[in-house]
Amino acid sequence: MDEGYNSNVSTFRKTEYPMLQDAVYLDHAGTTLYSKSLMERFMVDMMSNLYGNPHSASPSSQLSTNRIEDTRLKVLQFFKADPDEFDVVFVANATAGIKLVMEAFRELEGGFSYGYHKDAHTSIVGVRETAVASRCLDDGDVERWLSGRESFVEGSSATHLFAYPAQSNLDGRRVPLSWIERARCLESSVATYSLLDASAFVSTSQLDLSNAQAAPDFTVLSFYKIFGFPDLGALIVRKDSGAILQQRRYFGGGTVDIVLSVKEQWHALKQQSLHETLEDGTVSFHNIMALDAAMAVHRELFVSMERISKHTSFLAQRLYNGLASLRHANSEPVCVIHSEGFASKRIHDMQGPIVAFNVRNSHGAWVSNTEFERLASVKNIHIRSGGLCNPGGVATSLNLEANTLFFHQPWEIKRNFSAGFRCGVETDIYAGKPTGILRASLGAMSTEDDVETFVSFVREFYTEVEAYNPNVDSFVASQSSVNLLVESLTVYPIKSCGGFNVPPETPWEVKPEGLAWDREWCLISKGTGQALNQKRHPRMALIRPSLDFRQGLLRVSYGGQLPVASSREIVIPLSENPALYSPSTNNKFISSRVCGDTVVAQTYAKKEINDFFTRILGVPCALARFPAGGSGFSTRHSKAHMQKHQRQKRTMPKESPVTGACPSPPTPPDSDSEVQKRPILLSNESPILAISRSSLNALNEMIAKTGGKPAVASVFRANVVLAPASAGDEQPYSEDHWTSIQIGQQIFQMLGSCRRCHMICISQDTAEKDEEPFVTLAKTRRFDSKIFFGSHMCHIPLKTGTRESQCPTIKVGDLVKIDEKDKDS
Ligand SMILES: *Cc1c(COP(=O)(O)O)cnc(C)c1O
Repeated sequence: MDEGYNSNVSTFRKTEYPMLQDAVYLDHAGTTLYSKSLMERFMVDMMSNLYGNPHSASPSSQLSTNRIEDTRLKVLQFFKADPDEFDVVFVANATAGIKLVMEAFRELEGGFSYGYHKDAHTSIVGVRETAVASRCLDDGDVERWLSGRESFVEGSSATHLFAYPAQSNLDGRRVPLSWIERARCLESSVATYSLLDASAFVSTSQLDLSNAQAAPDFTVLSFYKIFGFPDLGALIVRKDSGAILQQRRYFGGGTVDIVLSVKEQWHALKQQSLHETLEDGTVSFHNIMALDAAMAVHRELFVSMERISKHTSFLAQRLYNGLASLRHANSEPVCVIHSEGFASKRIHDMQGPIVAFNVRNSHGAWVSNTEFERLASVKNIHIRSGGLCNPGGVATSLNLEANTLFFHQPWEIKRNFSAGFRCGVETDIYAGKPTGILRASLGAMSTEDDVETFVSFVREFYTEVEAYNPNVDSFVASQSSVNLLVESLTVYPIKSCGGFNVPPETPWEVKPEGLAWDREWCLISKGTGQALNQKRHPRMALIRPSLDFRQGLLRVSYGGQLPVASSREIVIPLSENPALYSPSTNNKFISSRVCGDTVVAQTYAKKEINDFFTRILGVPCALARFPAGGSGFSTRHSKAHMQKHQRQKRTMPKESPVTGACPSPPTPPDSDSEVQKRPILLSNESPILAISRSSLNALNEMIAKTGGKPAVASVFRANVVLAPASAGDEQPYSEDHWTSIQIGQQIFQMLGSCRRCHMICISQDTAEKDEEPFVTLAKTRRFDSKIFFGSHMCHIPLKTGTRESQCPTIKVGDLVKIDEKDKDS
């Protein structure tokens, strides 16, 4: 890249963009602002000519008409399009152009099938609502379709519309333009049309329509993204494909020649040109004249789009290199960059001059985008953050970490939405993941100084120069030793129903109210309004929920004998669509009594769901769920506390638990210092129930002495089974005396032993009852006429901004440390 060329472009800024004197402008896909020369030229034009409404024969009107038609031709020239092959329809903006195409397609007999690329802007996505069938395609899907290995959209109609952005407005990724010709050449009985959203692409690149055979049928764009002014858009139509747009039903303003409306309803559309039939009402004629001025001034200032393209890609590479090189003192990267094309050899084909990224602290915790944007604003740096109207881009193309610790699955976005997370809302980190990105875009008037200033800003404010240990004030790991590990993790998505085993190697989120997804749902008796439990309805053990995060579904199957004509499995979306719930409870949550305490939950409306459970249990009941996060969250006071048989001298850790450090539903205001008042969903006793394999082995030895049936761990319905790390480490019932433990990176406070009832006699595999292990426990583990087995515990969030504190997780196989002073006893 030649440096001299760049400084040439940069010098325009000083004189042409006085408003940028102290600002660094990195907003918009194009970042092109109106120049001084453009405003002056437009003003001179307006002040020296009399332009009228273009629909009449007066000289002022004729002058307008001529200027409009001139400008139309110049627009075609700008995109190297032959006026014999193409027409320009002036519209308000790119979105209006897309809607115009949609208006025609939706009137087709038999409708149309719609395929849109996953990087599409919401303007493109919305068209799917009017298609008979639609599909979101990724690169692989498009390739398979174009090579004839896969159909375009299932259940297709005879007309296909394929839409995609030439460049993603989110991360600047360029999508192959070669797809258009390949789609056109597909041999098939269907008519395939292409709709290219060139809005982001054209601001810094030459869109070249000189080969009509390879050109999109419909191209949309907004001129302000190229010239900064005027606010006007275009739909460029390939004339060969234009006829289909005449299917549009609406007519109005200048688009008709004759309209009869009193006695008969008949109209004749203008026949001369395509644009005349599509431009409803008075065209934005002043804007069109401003556009004429804009093209002229742009050429004077920048010569060509190719030059701008070179200039911006040179700057973008610098910006990318600058941000990618920033390191914290512990050599962890500061920026996680999502614009992948910079690392590629074919950079020009793959990447526009946009750097999309997120910022992390030295411990890997995400920096809030809102906070970043706010600080940038103070420094007069204009940058954009959020989802940027690009749902597919946020949900999938940026999914850098397969373990879902990074961007959310599509259904999670819905869940966030129902939990109150929407664009522009304060909290932009949810469940340890950012809900949007930061985007720095470069344009014609960007300079090397801008890039330098921005990189320095990130270096100054977000690069930690001193190593800093966030864990010093929490658990002192050196005082403890390892003798246990996590044998299994289980959650019970539906209270009192079967457990879901967390797969090995899967980090599972720990929330103040317990393990993620534990007892999020319950079954409510329609008669009593109370939550059903296994003690009364042993068959609930055979109702087996399973969490399917890929599809975003809770799958529920039944392991017992089903009544005839019942479905084997039902599925319930994990996302929370308010429409799923009973209308009567949409505004007013149903109150349900669980173990004597009132909880609030929303019942599902769908008959199929409720019938499934009602048939199995033989009791009219409905599935209910807690509303996600925030308001309406139910809390109840845990019954868990240290029992008399446990050591009284134990005291709570001196650090009171930190609430609110974890992005989860709030705890009640009085809960800060009292762990007994943490929010609990429908768990019977406490956030998390742990049992010890050593204790179970000891219990089974006792049962064996009487010839009874040994107990399996599942009857205790624990969340965590802790097992000795090696054979010599068996220490039955040592858990009675622990005050806190560390599992992996997480600290848990012990809340006391778990009191047991005869529910532990129900086999979780067959729903049959046995007298063991209750009988033997009653003999060996009875204190004050109560029987105990297992321990309650709750998570203590770390205070500081670590990755673990934003999304604390534990997993099967994690090592468990017991405080040494607890082990001495
Ligand atoms: C800006 C933009 C749009 C929307 O353009 P409007 O002029 O607001 O209608 C659509 N798609 C992409 C890729 C964009 O960059």
